[in-house]
Amino acid sequence: MTTLSMPTLRAAFGDRLQENISLASYTSARIGGSADAFITAYSSDELAEIISQLWEMKTPYLLLGGGSNLLISDGGFRGVAVLNKAKESHFSLGENPSVWAESGAGLIRVANLAATRGLDGLAWAAAIPGTVGGAVYGNAGAFGGEMAGVLRKINILTKSGRETWFVDDMRYAYRNSTLKGVTIKSVILSAEIMLTNGEQAKIQEQMRSFIQKRKKTQPPGASMGSMFKNPEGDYAGRLIEEAGLKGTRIGNIEISTLHANFFVNRGETKASDVKMLIDLTQKKVFEKFGVSLELEIELIGE
Ligand SMILES: Cc1cc2nc3c(=O)[nH]c(=O)nc-3n(C[C@H](O)[C@H](O)[C@H](O)COP(=O)(O)OP(=O)(O)OC[C@H]3O[C@@H](n4cnc5c(N)ncnc54)[C@H](O)[C@@H]3O)c2cc1C
Repeated sequence: MTTLSMPTLRAAFGDRLQENISLASYTSARIGGSADAFITAYSSDELAEIISQLWEMKTPYLLLGGGSNLLISDGGFRGVAVLNKAKESHFSLGENPSVWAESGAGLIRVANLAATRGLDGLAWAAAIPGTVGGAVYGNAGAFGGEMAGVLRKINILTKSGRETWFVDDMRYAYRNSTLKGVTIKSVILSAEIMLTNGEQAKIQEQMRSFIQKRKKTQPPGASMGSMFKNPEGDYAGRLIEEAGLKGTRIGNIEISTLHANFFVNRGETKASDVKMLIDLTQKKVFEKFGVSLELEIELIGE
């Protein structure tokens, strides 16, 4: 990737391009500096067009879904932040129902729309913020369900163009997929998710019970959800709690007293403080249990 040429970007995107935009409000943690440039895609075609142009111009970019799994540095992002607002969804009814959704559609919204139609399969997603694209990318899951279990196929933009990938092409593992950890990320444009016929009232009741459970066990307020992946056979939250770290605070970021795997933003918070708290947590847990906690969230910027 080369550095940014604002005149070239301006020539390519015109008024759609905004400069020097704070990214904090595009994240669930409400933390982070500014992006040099910012552009919103309102459809999957527009998303494909924007990303293709950025690839052609060799410009660094950050694709933002709901920003619910990201910690953006205080220095922000040197490149173009692309906000995915491609939100269409269509349901296919019948014996083998499914939903097709653009990748910027809210996962909770799609789960709710499915439930309203008496379609089951996404109830586990009732309280997972973010977009369908973010969930497909990271194999989001909860309450025994995960994207790997329901995804049929995606339309994805790769350097070779638009392709159809089936669920096996994603090589899913716990909160992981083939798209994670690669430098030039392909971009999920839309996804087809398999559903099953069920009873509207029952599905909605189950979703309500998942939301209630969340309210009892997870803190309200601005956060990134679980900070660390659960180590095999254990829970990151248990290890952090037993390392005596619940309630530990650096600046305005605090390890939740309700669920130790959540860091809650208590005010104006610096990403550098969050990073210090991450490092401290990893160090203390390693000292006490010999376990290296792996981040579930992604760190963006320097
Ligand atoms: C309160 C709270 C509760 C949470 N609970 C859960 C939970 O129960 N289970 C769980 O799994 N997660 C949970 N999360 C984490 C988070 O919501 C999920 O990881 C979610 O799927 C991220 O989606 P997003 O759209 O916000 O992605 P973002 O945070 O915007 O992006 C995350 C990564 O995905 C990439 N990405 C986003 N869209 C695309 C796309 N279309 N194509 C390619 N790459 C893309 C981004 O570039 C980035 O690298 C929780 C978070 C919060 C704040």
